[in-house]
Amino acid sequence: MKRAAIVSIGNEILGGQTIDTNAAYLSKELLVLGLPVLSCYTVGDETDRIVRALNLAGMDADIVVATGGLGPTDDDVTRQAFAKFMGVELKIQEDLLRKVQDFFAQRNLQMPGKNRIQACIPVGAKALPNNRGTAPGIMAEADGKLFVALPGVPSEMKQMFGESVLPQLQQVASSQSVVVRKLRCYGVGESTIAEMLGELMQRGRNPLINCTVHFGVITLHIIATAENQVQAERMAKEGENLLKETFGDLIYGTAEQTLAEVVGLRLAHQQASVAIAESCTGGLLSKLLTDAPGASEYFTHGWVTYGNIAKIGELGVPEDLIERCGAVSEQVATAMAQGARSRAGADYAIGITGIAGPTGGTEQKPVGLVYICVDSKEESEVQCCRFSGDRDSIRRRAAQSALNMLRLRIKD
Ligand code: ATP
Ligand code: MG
Repeated sequence: MKRAAIVSIGNEILGGQTIDTNAAYLSKELLVLGLPVLSCYTVGDETDRIVRALNLAGMDADIVVATGGLGPTDDDVTRQAFAKFMGVELKIQEDLLRKVQDFFAQRNLQMPGKNRIQACIPVGAKALPNNRGTAPGIMAEADGKLFVALPGVPSEMKQMFGESVLPQLQQVASSQSVVVRKLRCYGVGESTIAEMLGELMQRGRNPLINCTVHFGVITLHIIATAENQVQAERMAKEGENLLKETFGDLIYGTAEQTLAEVVGLRLAHQQASVAIAESCTGGLLSKLLTDAPGASEYFTHGWVTYGNIAKIGELGVPEDLIERCGAVSEQVATAMAQGARSRAGADYAIGITGIAGPTGGTEQKPVGLVYICVDSKEESEVQCCRFSGDRDSIRRRAAQSALNMLRLRIKD
């Protein structure tokens, strides 16, 4: 099986000013091609370090894709590093020089002398055309392996990868296929999911199951590798079915689906409406629900009743209830949801009140305590949640959990 490695070049990545989105993009693209990425090296703009990284990357990969450092300034040395790595000279190519000159001429500019270096390619390597900038890429073979250098600017890198590298890699990877499927879960923690997965999560298994978490949403990645696409698809499908049996209702969707999208689909399908009354989430829940196009079909009202006056005046929460139970309580969450549902005339309503922190917590009511009520004609269900993390993550988890409660209420 052929494998790939990535070399990200640039002092700005090491310095933390630039987030390495190129590596993330390339990893995904290469995997879809059936070329899993085994390693990713980050190096500064220094010739010898780049050479060392190329050597390391080439040790366990058949394809090495480097990005960055192809610019015309003295701090961009990837071209020189590629030549040194290959043990050859850099040679100016007249056709490339004309292209760089044309690039400036078209913009009525004089080509700075420094840009001549961009017309230089290691002897024996191929130049990859760059339609968006002046820096051509490099493609070279060494020890039967393919080494590619692309510019650091993400838009240029993507365009060149798609146009000049991908077709070549498709040939390299034609004898193997990788299919990736995703299932999204909500409702339990990562360790519970891992326990439920048991030996399904064993490394070296095919399909391989990986697990990532983002604000409570757990994504299960099913990665099937086979000789051909049909076989890989079938293995991924079998893996998916097995996980669906194991996790049942914990799975809310597939691919990139959000909880809000799934809730929206279910509401639209039932021709039902929803109204939202939020305190600690400050409108986040309404925002998430209305992120989906077409939300006007089911989303009627969103109240942000942050203060007690609003809870009383806008939603009809009884004043003495707030006095007796406190604004952050099961009773007030329920009264908010019920008030919202009756005032909006909606089929469902959510009331949400809690302490997002970092201040405002007490021993009885600590930071992260959130009450969520989902109200419908049939019943009012309240959940008392304890979230950890900073203000932002508590609010996000609260909004997601509210969506999940509603999802489970409106079964398909
Ligand atoms: P240029 O011709 O524009 O100089 P280059 O190949 O020399 O191209 P760099 O100078 O290394 O590219 O990077 C240009 C810009 O591209 C950087 O300022 C940075 O914002 C972005 N960039 C570089 N590497 C990456 C990366 N790995 N991920 C995301 N962005 C990157
Ligand atoms: Mg650079």
